[in-house]
Amino acid sequence: MKSDKVDMLAPGSVIGILGGGQLGRMSALAAARLGYKVHIFSPEADGPAAQVAWKNTVAAYDDLAALEAFAKSVDVVTFEFENIPAAAAEILAKQKPTRPSPRVLHITQERLREKRFLEKIGVPVTAFREVTTAADLPAAVADIGTPSILKSASFGYDGKGQVRIEAGMDLADAWKKMGGSIAILEGFVDFDCEISVIVARNTNGDVALFEPARNSHKHHILDTSTVPAGITNKVAHAAEAIARNIATEIDLVGLLAVEMFVTKAGGVLVNELAPRPHNSGHWSMDGAITSQFEQHIRAICGLELGNPARHSDTVMTNLIGDEVETWPQLLADPDVKLHLYGKAEARPGRKMGHWNRIKPKSA
Ligand code: AMP
Repeated sequence: MKSDKVDMLAPGSVIGILGGGQLGRMSALAAARLGYKVHIFSPEADGPAAQVAWKNTVAAYDDLAALEAFAKSVDVVTFEFENIPAAAAEILAKQKPTRPSPRVLHITQERLREKRFLEKIGVPVTAFREVTTAADLPAAVADIGTPSILKSASFGYDGKGQVRIEAGMDLADAWKKMGGSIAILEGFVDFDCEISVIVARNTNGDVALFEPARNSHKHHILDTSTVPAGITNKVAHAAEAIARNIATEIDLVGLLAVEMFVTKAGGVLVNELAPRPHNSGHWSMDGAITSQFEQHIRAICGLELGNPARHSDTVMTNLIGDEVETWPQLLADPDVKLHLYGKAEARPGRKMGHWNRIKPKSA
């Protein structure tokens, strides 16, 4: 199929996705529905994405020769996993349009860099200090106060590499538990709730926002995301304005999830960014006119963005570890849509699937 816009990739083109997990799987399914072919690059053979892809490259993220060959074989490159080495992103971007850009990955790969970028563009964030050695920690704790949270600056997710600091705690021990080389100490936010906004931006600079979802966690892992989020219009508008500002200032092409805290005073603080589809956007698969995965594909292929409006109230619940065994009951529920990721082994803490409970839109 031919496209009439220079930058528009027509259906039939090949989309390269770095990362082979469930986010890659659901992006690949959305791409296939629009007539694209997907080539997955992942260190894991037969992972969730590989099972549904047109082609697979199984190689390490630092295998530069394999990355180069992969980039040559596709029309556009994107990610479902952002923690790839900077050199890898540069190699890909030299060969093909890489969306989001290596710069976006660079900023969002490290908490300190991300926080400083957000501060620079005027986005409110939690109070923080850089901590480069265990010896710096007492001064940082004195500055920020307790309780606070010590987080490894890189490669943390789902609460990994995080230690809560309380008054009188052994700080040398806390540093060891955190386990990273450079850390950030953040003031603890006694939040009212956690929300996230997923924003898409295409090659024309058009922006589309999914409404905020309210997120709850269990053992540091996302448990549920609910829309509508039950927040005031004022908070929702503030959160959406922040997400729009970040997408524009970072020059996003693709999808970005913005996780935020709503404070008890009704303020909004950004916690962290993820430049890809996000677990808290899975509700959109059954509750919105366009899912976050379709929106991701539209954005990176230079297409018009789809309508992100909610058509149904939705509660998304993750299936972690052996919770996946409830699948027969979930399938029997007429208001539930089940999504399983094709993972063979239900290890504790592993995301095996999710389900959306939908009902007609209330407000
Ligand atoms: P993160 O890895 O930064 O997304 O943190 C994981 C979870 O820990 C968040 O979703 C919050 O529930 C909690 N958390 C992280 N940072 C803070 C903070 N500064 N204050 C209060 N809770 C936090």
